[in-house]
Amino acid sequence: MRYLVTGGAGFIGSAIAEALLARGDAVTVLDNLSSGRESNLERLKGDVVFERGDVRDAKARAKALTGVAGVFHEAAVASVGASIADPITCDDVNTRGTLALLEDARAAGIKRFVFAASAAAYGDGPTLPKVETMAPAPLSPYAASKLAGEHYVRSYAHLHGMRTASLRYFNVFGVHQDPNGEYAAVVPKFVDALLAGKAPTVFGDGEQTRDFCHIENVVDANLRAMNSDTVHGESINIANGESITIRELAETLCRLLGREVRVHFRDARAGDIRHSRANIDLAQQLLGYRPLVSVADGLARVADALRQGAP
Ligand code: NAD
Repeated sequence: MRYLVTGGAGFIGSAIAEALLARGDAVTVLDNLSSGRESNLERLKGDVVFERGDVRDAKARAKALTGVAGVFHEAAVASVGASIADPITCDDVNTRGTLALLEDARAAGIKRFVFAASAAAYGDGPTLPKVETMAPAPLSPYAASKLAGEHYVRSYAHLHGMRTASLRYFNVFGVHQDPNGEYAAVVPKFVDALLAGKAPTVFGDGEQTRDFCHIENVVDANLRAMNSDTVHGESINIANGESITIRELAETLCRLLGREVRVHFRDARAGDIRHSRANIDLAQQLLGYRPLVSVADGLARVADALRQGAP
């Protein structure tokens, strides 16, 4: 079968594409390389068609959707900071881009659509763990746009009988995650700093918590959602189900890389949430999901791979 992976040159999309190819499927990648990397595409071995284009472009979508059995929609303006700097583009890509892709998929008779949603939808309420039945409270244009995408994804299951699901990823980490740029994710940034002999920079007091989830778990959840004959537009937490503080994360990485335990603190950033931890019961019930790789093992894998020069 051929699957479309939008954002397939990015961190999560390329990992999904790699897993599909490894099991013998074919992949079309639609990506405009705005935050994705050619090196992620070079890793993909097998029947891959790369469509360099924008999810907002009807022609690019039509080409990318040709002959596919299902869509993994990962392409997005994927950071809170970028969404604050340019909320209109963020909405255009994340909300309208998602709706346009759903509509084109429906028109092309494609029945399966798995959407990369975000834990950012929960906002910063004090109740933990976050359960899907809680009222969402997005605090940034990014969170609002991702939540809007979820609503469209649900409506296409209800109106058109498509098998859709929105996977609310918590903090995903793993090898091949970009350490560069202002909005880079925290794990590769910390590792990069440590490998350069610097102390990792922590925004705020370091006591904020996150539910870090290794990429292999996220890929597994995506494949399960795509194969499911029962999903019906649900929003589903995908996480580890445990949280650690950012300070613990930095200290663990210092130890794993054999560096002095030393952290550099800076002011907290706008739009960052304080605590995050997921209830993953729904993922278990609907998808049979449970984390395959623990945070400790996942961090050790990242440290090993980056020490050996993985991009
Ligand atoms: P990423 O930046 O590595 O990947 C996003 C990809 O989308 C990039 O390759 C980029 O070039 C592409 N893209 C962006 N705008 C595009 C457009 N207009 N047209 C075509 N391609 C476009 O980010 P990621 O971490 O791999 O995130 C993948 C998805 O998962 C995103 O939708 C993100 O919102 C979501 N998500 C990620 C996390 C996380 O922890 N990494 C958490 C929650 C949700």
